[in-house]
This record gives sequence, C-alpha cells and structure tokens, in this order.
Amino acid sequence: MIAFLSVSLFLGFLAFYALSAMDANKKAMEVTIDAVYFLGRVNEMRMNIVKAGKIPEQLEVSVHGFEDIQHELMDLEDDFNEIGDKIEKIARPYAVKEHIDKLLEDGQSFYDSLVALMPIKERIVSLSEIREGQLLPLFETFRERELEHQKFVNKIAAKIRKQERVDFDVQSTAPDHFTWYGQNDSPDPVLRKMFADIGPLHEHLHDAVALADQYVSDQNPEEAKRIMDDVFGDVKQLEDGLSALSSYAYDRYFNEMSAYQSQKEKAFFLLEKVMERVTELKKFVEDSILSDARGNMHAISRQNRIILAVAATMGVLLSLCIAFITVRKTENAFNLSKKINHDLKNSLEQQRQLNEDLAQEITRRKQAEKELQRVNVELEEMAVTDGLTGLYNHRYMNQFLHMEHNRAIRHHHELSVIMMDIDFFKNVNDSYGHGCGDVVLCGIAEMLTSRLRSTDIIARFDADQAVVARYGGEEIAVILPETDVEGAGDLAEDLRKMIEHNTFHCEEVAIKITVSIGVAASSKDKKETWSELLGRADAALYRAKNQGRNRVES
Ligand code: GH3
Ligand code: MG
Ligand code: MG
Repeated sequence: MIAFLSVSLFLGFLAFYALSAMDANKKAMEVTIDAVYFLGRVNEMRMNIVKAGKIPEQLEVSVHGFEDIQHELMDLEDDFNEIGDKIEKIARPYAVKEHIDKLLEDGQSFYDSLVALMPIKERIVSLSEIREGQLLPLFETFRERELEHQKFVNKIAAKIRKQERVDFDVQSTAPDHFTWYGQNDSPDPVLRKMFADIGPLHEHLHDAVALADQYVSDQNPEEAKRIMDDVFGDVKQLEDGLSALSSYAYDRYFNEMSAYQSQKEKAFFLLEKVMERVTELKKFVEDSILSDARGNMHAISRQNRIILAVAATMGVLLSLCIAFITVRKTENAFNLSKKINHDLKNSLEQQRQLNEDLAQEITRRKQAEKELQRVNVELEEMAVTDGLTGLYNHRYMNQFLHMEHNRAIRHHHELSVIMMDIDFFKNVNDSYGHGCGDVVLCGIAEMLTSRLRSTDIIARFDADQAVVARYGGEEIAVILPETDVEGAGDLAEDLRKMIEHNTFHCEEVAIKITVSIGVAASSKDKKETWSELLGRADAALYRAKNQGRNRVES
C-alpha cells in the first residue's frame, strides 16, 4: 500500500514537472517563432530596399511616367509600417525598438527624398518637348528656331536687295509662328511671357515679307527695300527675344537638372544609410533574438528529451504498477478459484456421501418395508379370529384340524368334528334385515363359546381343548380333540336344544331359530385326511338338513 502511494506521488510529481516544462516550451516556442518571423520580415524589407535602391537609376528623366517607381515606393512604405507594428511583441525584452525607430526615421527620409524627386522631374518635363518619343530640352529647340529664323531673314533680305521676287516658298521655309504660340501653355510664367512677346514680332515680320514681295512683283523695288529696312529693327528684336528665350530655358533646364541630380545623390546617400540600418538590425536580430531563440530551441529539445525520459519512466512505472496489480489480482483469483475448487470438491464429496447414505437409507427402508410387509402378511396370517363373531376363522380351523388330526392318528387319540348350519337363516335376513341376522349369528357364537368353556360340561368332553370356528357364512364348526363320536353327538344335541330354546332379540323383535348339525369322528383308517374327516361332518350336516332340519346326524 505504502509502495503504491509513493509510486503514485512520484508519478504525480513527474506529471506536474512534464506539464510545466511543456508550458515553458510552448512560450519559448512562441517567442522563437516570432523572432524567426521577424527576421524574415527584416530580410524581406532588405530585399525591397535593394529593389527601391534602383529607383534613382530609373529616374533618368524621360517621357515615361513614375507609376512603377511609385508602386515600389508604396511597397517600401508598407514594409516600414508593418515592421513597426510587428515588433511590439518581440521587441519587449530586447533593445530592438531603438533600431527599428532609427530605421523608420531613416526610411522615412529616404522615402521623402524619393518623393521630392517627383516635382523636379515634372518641371524638367515642362522644360522639354517630346519629339519622336524622346524628351528634348526646350532650349535646344529654341536654338534651332533661332538659327532657322536668321537663315530665313538673311535669305529674304538678299532677294529683296537683288530685287528678286520673294515668291519663293515663304510658307514652307518660314518658321511657323503658331509653333511658338504652341509653347504658350508652359507652366513657367516667365517662359509664357517671353512667348507672348515674340509672337506679334514674328507675325509682323511675316506680314512685312509678304508686302515687300508684293512691291517686287509690282516693279517697285524701292518700296520693297524700304519695307525690309523698316522691318530689320523688328527682326533684330525678334532674334534677341528668341536668344533670351533660349538662354532662359537653358538656365532653367540646367538648374532643374542639377537640383534633380543633387536630390538623387541625397536619395542615394539616404538609401545607403537605410541599408546600413537594416544590416545592423539584421545583425542585432541574429545576434540577440535569434541566438536566444536558438538557445530556447536547444533548451526545448533538451527539455523534450527530459519529458520523453519522464514519460518513459512514467510508462514503465505505470506498467509495473499495472503488472503488479494484475499479478496480485490473478494470484487472488487463482487462490479463490483454488478455494472454490476445493470447496466444490468437498461439497461434491459430501453430496456423494449423502447420496450414498440416502441410497443406503432407501435400501434399508425398502428392506424394512419388505420386512413390514412380510410381518404384516404373517400377522394377517396370524389373524385367527373372525371379525363379526370373535370365533376362530376358517383358516385357523383348518390348521388346527390338520394339526389335531395328525396328532390323533399318531397317538391313536379320538378326534371329532361338529358342523352346524342355521336353518332358514335367509328368512331372518329377509324378515328383519341383515343387521338382525348378524345379531343372531353373534348370539349363537356367544352361546357356543360360553357353553364349551364352562367346566360342568359332559365329562368326556374336554372343553378347554375345543375349538369353535366360523366355517362359512352362517356355518360353524367345532373341533373336539380327545372326543369320540358319541361324546360329540351328545354335545351337538345339547347345543341344538340350547339354541332352539333361546330367543334372540333384535330391534325389539324376538327371533327364534334352530340349527342342523352333522357330527363325524376320525376313523382308525390312517389313510383318511383331515379334509375327508371334515367332508364326512359336512355330509352328516347335509343329511340332518335333508331329514327335516333342527336335528343332529352322526
Ligand atoms: P337351510 O335351512 O337350507 O340352511 O336354509 P338357509 O336359508 O339357512 O339356507 P343357507 O344355509 O343355504 O343360507 C345361507 C344364508 O345365510 C345366506 C345368507 O343370507 C345368510 N348368511 C350367511 N352368512 C351371514 C352373515 O354373516 N350374516 C347374516 N345376517 N346372514 C348370513
Ligand atoms: Mg348354510
Ligand atoms: Mg342355513
């Protein structure tokens, strides 16, 4: 029990340790994941900055817009913002926030410097004209026009001096003044003013040339020459205007270009700074956060090994506990089953013993029953009296007669038999009922027994040895050992008279009856059987009946 409790406590401690270690693992894992993610973001940002670093190179002023550049700049801005949002969690235990703040600051400056390039480029474009898909600085076109114009004016002047017609292709060679006006929508107000001033001069010159040509054709060269001389002042003014325009455009263009250049250099410089910051940040993240994360990972894997060992130990201990309990239980179950088996065997043995006893008891009882039956039969056989009259019964009479007959023959003694039958007994039954017949029968039996047992009977008759038996229905036999036929005849007569004179009473009815008697004595003939003797008595009775009843025949 104590061992089991200690094992349970130890297991509980191990489980607690494993759970807390797993919790610490989870936290360390989270920080590590954040750190790795963070480093990934920093690297990505670095890539974007490198990409953005190409922007100034793309910023060679051209016809094309800044859409691509603007997209890249927007990406970069997103990067800075995102990394700013993400550092909160990871930055807390480290000084990384300072790095990020510096990076954000420099990143913003870099971004601003790039943005500042845009209006400069716009101005440069406004100081250029698009020709064959290329941006051509305006001052160059102005120079071209100026030269064209001088050539044109010189040509006209020479013709007019030679009084030749100017009907040369004025329209085609003269610089189109509408082209000048076309530049009038410049965003630069100075430039717009210059255009406005040159326009009328150019128009005036054009008109003058047309008029001079008319005079030449009208054969009036003087007038043509005068007009051209008058117009030279204008030409001079126009050429000066064009020259001023050209040099203004030149100055502006180069000013803007140098501003652009220096802004580009500034952007380059800031880009370098941002790159440095990112590299610093990356290094910091790698040195501190990531190395911590690596440490965490090592710790985690070490802890995991410990947890694994703990789990294995728990498994083994649990298995041992289970095995121990199982063995105990099995042992108990085995012992129990052994005991049950033993008990069962005992009980079976007891049962068998009981069955055996029971079988013996049954046999014994059967034997007893048999014995009882036998005794009963014996007893029944031994029953010698008649139920109604109390006289000996027929069977007993036969046995007695048999025995006495043998004895008489053996010892040459006398033996007589009296057979008595009530006369017209049917009538008694018929007249007074069967019950009264029984009363009469019993009365006769009573008379006979009391008469035969009395001592004052005839001397030759040994009453003690006589046996009176109910032979049949209303027939009575008397066996008289040691009595000869005369003695028996006397006794029979005595009995007949006694009955004749007696009155029987039944249900207040007086009944008178008589009997017929046959007497026989054993002969000296040794061959006669006891039943032949009985037969002779019966025959004598038959005779008495035949000879009128109420009499004795021997
Ligand atoms: P008989 O003079 O020829 O003898 O005439 P009987 O009427 O006596 O004729 P028998 O001896 O043949 O008749 C026997 C009658 O005795 C028949 C029966 O009714 C009657 N009896 C026999 N045994 C008993 C008995 O135990 N009780 C009664 N009440 N009647 C008996
Ligand atoms: Mg009869
Ligand atoms: Mg009769």
